Amino acid sequence: MSYKSNYGNISCGEVLLHLADFIEDDIDEDIKEKIIAHLKECTWCEQFGTAYQKTVIALKNQNINIEQADFVEKLKQRLSITG
Ligand SMILES: [Zn+2]
Repeated sequence: MSYKSNYGNISCGEVLLHLADFIEDDIDEDIKEKIIAHLKECTWCEQFGTAYQKTVIALKNQNINIEQADFVEKLKQRLSITG
C-alpha cells in the first residue's frame, strides 16, 4: 500500500469500500463515525469523497439513462470499488 493514512482508526481503502453506503446513510454508526473522523484528517479522501458524493447526487437528481449508468460502472471500475 502506498498510502499509510489510517486516520480515525480506518484506512483509506476501507473508507472507499464504505463510501457509497456512507453517502446513502445506510451504514453502521460506528463505521460512520470512523469515516467522519477519517475525512476530517485525510485530505485525499475528503476531496475524493466530496467529488464522489457530488457525482452520486447529480446522477440521482436526473433520470439516469443507460449510457450514464454505464459511465458510473466504468468510473467504479477505474476506482476499484466494484466490490
Ligand atoms: Zn483517507
